[in-house]
Amino acid sequence: MSECVFCKIANRLSGSDGEYHFENDQISAFNDINPQAPIHILIVPKRHIPSIVDIVDSDIELLGKMVRVASELAKSHHLNTNGYRLVFNIKKHGGQVVDHIHLHLLGGQQLGKMNNN
Ligand code: AMP
Ligand code: ZN
Repeated sequence: MSECVFCKIANRLSGSDGEYHFENDQISAFNDINPQAPIHILIVPKRHIPSIVDIVDSDIELLGKMVRVASELAKSHHLNTNGYRLVFNIKKHGGQVVDHIHLHLLGGQQLGKMNNN
């Protein structure tokens, strides 16, 4: 079995410590264990893709669906009026810690400006 923590959580081979917000045959979404905003949900494909640098043309539909799941979750959490942020961290300089693609949905408060840190 893969040792990848997000493979396990997304495929429900081990539970998330947080709440699941969405699941279909391709994608799971669950609370980040260390939230950086009042709403901090991770949208995660069930299939293991290490990083955005690894995506190929056949992944485009899946990536689009991840963004669509994020936009629906943002709407259901009443984030559409004030807005929110979607983030992919990519490898070391991008701050990626878990090497399985995940889209962060952050919102529920004014978020800090993007900077170099
Ligand atoms: P990144 O820095 O983009 O790789 O983000 C990884 C995120 O995964 C961090 O925000 C962590 O808090 C979160 N995380 C790590 N392990 C777990 C877990 N078991 N359940 C939920 N979130 C996790
Ligand atoms: Zn994985």
